[in-house]
Order: sequence, then structure tokens, then C-alpha cells
Amino acid sequence: MTDAVTSGALGRVINRPVARRRRAAEPCELCGAPLPGEHAHLLEERKEQVFCACRACALLFEQGETGPGRFRLVPHRRVRLTGPPPSELGVPVGLAFFVRRSDGTVTAHYPSPAGATRWEVDSAAWERLAVRYAELGSMRPVVEAFLVAIVRGLDERWLVPIDDCHRLVALVRQEWTGMSGGQRLWDRIAAFFAELGR
Ligand SMILES: [Zn+2]
Ligand SMILES: [Zn+2]
Repeated sequence: MTDAVTSGALGRVINRPVARRRRAAEPCELCGAPLPGEHAHLLEERKEQVFCACRACALLFEQGETGPGRFRLVPHRRVRLTGPPPSELGVPVGLAFFVRRSDGTVTAHYPSPAGATRWEVDSAAWERLAVRYAELGSMRPVVEAFLVAIVRGLDERWLVPIDDCHRLVALVRQEWTGMSGGQRLWDRIAAFFAELGR
């Protein structure tokens, strides 16, 4: 499994708190300008890498070309979705996130000790799901995700920025032990979701 989640982007997102706080004076990864603790993230679409960006670079790319391989501004919104579990997909989801690609197809990603395994979601099933969760209709391609955790007592459904999902994938890779992940991992995943709500 070699995708962005397992490559250089991983190191940058691995210890990034939800509030995007970083030590001051880390530079914009596009122009080198100093960054405040609270700053924008850009996703390089082809490699699925997340870059820290200054306001000027973020504005530039927010308005700019967004073809394949370009940067896309990662939005900030986090929306907790309510309602029953997403049975429309026809599979038990456990811990997974769903991303709409630029071509309109939706990919399911399952965090695992080896990274995130993925497969394409049946489009009819996704459409049924989008009827259930109205917010999914406004989910932006590539930079937002539908994140689900229905496992180990968790019952979480969120519309989140994609960098949140990268952090979760990194957490699973880092903390997974034994056959089922281990208690420490699941405690940290519970904490991850608790923090999303703050
Ligand atoms: Zn910059
Ligand atoms: Zn950053």
C-alpha cells in the first residue's frame, strides 16, 4: 500500500492536533513565509498530500485552477451527522471514510495497520445514503470526507476535512497492536472523535 497516507505527508499530519495548532514560525510549505499556529491546509490531489499554507497561498489556490494534480484548499467545517447508521452501503462500515473523487465516483477507505485499504462504492448505494444525510450532497470532492466509526461502542458519523482522515489513518498505523488494534488504540480513537466535537 503506497499512497499519500503512507508517504511523506504522514509525518506532517501524524502529530497534528485537531485545532491545527503548530509551533509558531514553521514556514508555509509553498512560499516559505512564516505561518501562524492557525493556518490553511492545501491538498495536492494526485499524491493526496497535505501542505501547510499561508493565507496568500491559500487564497491563491482557493480561487485557482483545481485540475488533477493541483492543490485544493482543505475546508475547515466539521459537521456531526445524526440519524441511524448508514445501512444503505450494504456492508458493515466499522471504521471508514468515504471520499468523492473528481470524476464523481466515491471511494471507501478503511484505516488499517498497513495504511488505508480502499474500494469503490456502488454509486446507487451512495445516492441512497446522500438522501439520508443531506449534508453529503454538499460534500466537496477530494478535500472532504464522510467519516464513520460504528465499532467498539463508538457511534460517530461526520462530514470532515480530509486532513482529519489522514490523522486518523496515521493514528491507526502508529498504535495498532495485535489482532484487533489493542485497547490503547481504541481509547485514542475515542479521544480523536471527542476532540472533533470541540
Ligand atoms: Zn505561502
Ligand atoms: Zn498545517
